[in-house]
Amino acid sequence: MSLCWQGLRHRYAQGPSLSYADLDLPSGQHLLITGASGSGKSTLLALLTGLLRVREGRLSVMGQDLAALSPQALDAWRGATLGFVPQRLHLSEALNVAQNVGLPFVAAGLTPDAAQIDAVLLQLGVADVAAQRPHQLSVGQAQRVAVARALVRKPPLLVADEPTASLDDANAQAMLSLLLDASRQRGCTLVLASHDARVIQQLAARDDVTQLRLA
Ligand code: ADP
Ligand code: MG
Repeated sequence: MSLCWQGLRHRYAQGPSLSYADLDLPSGQHLLITGASGSGKSTLLALLTGLLRVREGRLSVMGQDLAALSPQALDAWRGATLGFVPQRLHLSEALNVAQNVGLPFVAAGLTPDAAQIDAVLLQLGVADVAAQRPHQLSVGQAQRVAVARALVRKPPLLVADEPTASLDDANAQAMLSLLLDASRQRGCTLVLASHDARVIQQLAARDDVTQLRLA
């Protein structure tokens, strides 16, 4: 079971209390989390990715009960299990493309694995810009680099928060295809939060996508 929770709720000290309907995601399914702005999509992703601790309910992600992990173990789990594509790509201008893609190794205290970096750059079609800086990239190339960075440690779970929100139609389509193709090729579970009608229209119709609507 890739994702499973019961009685999951998060109360912000200075904010709302958000409760989530129980979910048991069938294996082989991707998850599309939809709902208006403020409905709790990002909060749910923060719980699933261990950025917020589960205080109410039970949550299992890729077979791991997150509440059972110490903060240190949770960090290690995140590094090994999770690829994250942020809405703003957060590529570092101080680093070239290959070094940006190697950041997940650095964050885990590991030496960047050059072979794995080369392989993922090649797979995503950006091997030719490995030595360039982010500002030299097109929007489409920068997207590919951000997805490469998320995938470089071969995580079984790929998570994206509003990955198309600031993109024009062509780039939004490219980003969505990139996430779906990469997940299929690598056998990753994709969890995507979006209130973008273009994304919802495409993904909700697929038989390998489960939609969770937050109210
Ligand atoms: P979405 O991603 O669907 O827009 P969020 O999960 O970001 O929703 O936010 C859900 C609700 O929680 C909103 O009302 C938001 O204002 C509130 N919220 C988010 N983060 C915090 C926080 N750190 N402290 C207090 N309230 C928060
Ligand atoms: Mg959000």
